Amino acid sequence: MKIAIFAGNSEEPFMVIITLQRKKCIGCNYCVELAPSQFQMSKKDGKSVLLHSEEKKGFHTIKSPDESIFDNADKAKEACPVKIISVKRS
Ligand code: SF4
Repeated sequence: MKIAIFAGNSEEPFMVIITLQRKKCIGCNYCVELAPSQFQMSKKDGKSVLLHSEEKKGFHTIKSPDESIFDNADKAKEACPVKIISVKRS
């Protein structure tokens, strides 16, 4: 069961924040298998793409209020052999 988490009195839910340090990706495909709604392999360079992310200094990030994406993204984080995926709640 998913439980919405609210911050103080603001009634703003916490955000799920996923970050990918894409340059270091070795293209193993684990993240795509575990969280296909967040990750996709690039046919251009064989590295993972974090969908709908913004890039800043080599770090690709999405922020989403959708708590349901956390578990699969977290599994992808755990499975990534080069540990370049971060998944947090803000
Ligand atoms: S699990 Fe890590 S190394 Fe493998 S494709 Fe995804 S980001 Fe790249």
